[in-house]
Amino acid sequence: MTPCPPEWIDGLANHCHDEEKLSTARVLARDGPFHVGFAITDMAVPVTKLNFWGVRGSTPTVDPATWRYGGNTPCLELQAPDGTQFILDCGTGLRMLGNRWDAPSGEKSQGTHILITHYHWDHIQGVPFFAPLYLPNNEFKFYSFRSKFLGRDSLKQVFEAQMAVPYFPVDMSVMSAKRKFQEVEGGESFTIGENKISTRWLNHPQGCLGFRIETPAGTVAYATDNEPGDAKLDESLRELAAGADIFINDAQFTEEQLQGTRKGWGHSSWLEGVKAARHAGAKTLVLFHHDPDSTDRKVDSILRQARDEFDSVFAASEGMVITLGAPGEPAQAHMPGTRTSLRREVQFHARVCGLTEGGKEFMEETVVCDLSLQGAMITLKHLPQLQSELQVTMDPPGTNGEQRIRLKGYVVRIDDTSEKGRVSVGVVFTD
Ligand SMILES: [Zn+2]
Ligand SMILES: [Zn+2]
Repeated sequence: MTPCPPEWIDGLANHCHDEEKLSTARVLARDGPFHVGFAITDMAVPVTKLNFWGVRGSTPTVDPATWRYGGNTPCLELQAPDGTQFILDCGTGLRMLGNRWDAPSGEKSQGTHILITHYHWDHIQGVPFFAPLYLPNNEFKFYSFRSKFLGRDSLKQVFEAQMAVPYFPVDMSVMSAKRKFQEVEGGESFTIGENKISTRWLNHPQGCLGFRIETPAGTVAYATDNEPGDAKLDESLRELAAGADIFINDAQFTEEQLQGTRKGWGHSSWLEGVKAARHAGAKTLVLFHHDPDSTDRKVDSILRQARDEFDSVFAASEGMVITLGAPGEPAQAHMPGTRTSLRREVQFHARVCGLTEGGKEFMEETVVCDLSLQGAMITLKHLPQLQSELQVTMDPPGTNGEQRIRLKGYVVRIDDTSEKGRVSVGVVFTD
């Protein structure tokens, strides 16, 4: 239980026009403790939501070993409390955002503003696949810098070039949404609705912009694609991240790669991110732009090392949502159900070992009552057909069939085993 912050109630009337909800909130604020999880969305508290649609650097990956963190290239969506929508970069993650997109609504919403850090493939490749661009009533405003290699209207040229014959089946003329383009450069500041945007140059081949978005519910600094080592631009990075609630930084390489074979490639490491976050007083660090060759386990290990050095760190993960401005909580991260896949209610006794928030090891006995399953390896005497469906029924130990779990799966691999007459079958559960 956390007391309701007074500024929360002051701001409420600006964001909530439902008198009944407002009076409930006033009563709760006046009469005592306020539960943190109380109907945040219903009450329209000033909350900023940051959605990660693409987190992979350089090129998309479909390798199953990268599934958990995700394979789409950079695309973030920030929904500000005034209803304004910001899209940060247009990597392949933009396609899924487009498929679920609703035009921003609300009296104070300033529509959709798309900020593009630079013109490397992984940051623009989603544009032709962003469905809302093909609808005449939509309107988008794009921001990026004038490239010395392209000159005026750089961003517009980049769009046209990637849809030019023979690289794409249709040309730009079929994109019927209204598009506006604005050139920005490092060191600028401007406001959109209630939000202040600041830009800084970052150290990256052919240039890259970092964006800082200050909303009434918190500040997000987005610094993808940057390499440490240029004193002036290192300072720009710290300015961008100064006191930010969320600081998203390039963490593509390990420290060894950064000092060795990958020096000069324009990327950073978790350790450099930690140093910058500390120096800038950022509250939460998000490791971003994972290397296409980094498996989920590799990203896990990078995250673990970063958490040893800095209090609040997340590894950007496709589908992750970070919420800022919820009463009593500076930043909350969660994964939507769709990413956690198949779930079953069970009653398994389990022993759980782990680390507490304070970094202490713990062990406890408990009951698992909600299990998520993606797949299994099972050995069989029969040889199932590859890519065929399998039914798997499991009896959790000690339940005498009362807790039987029935799952439908899909055969994704078949391997020999050391045991004669048996094969090892990889199954991905589909429902
Ligand atoms: Zn990149
Ligand atoms: Zn780049």
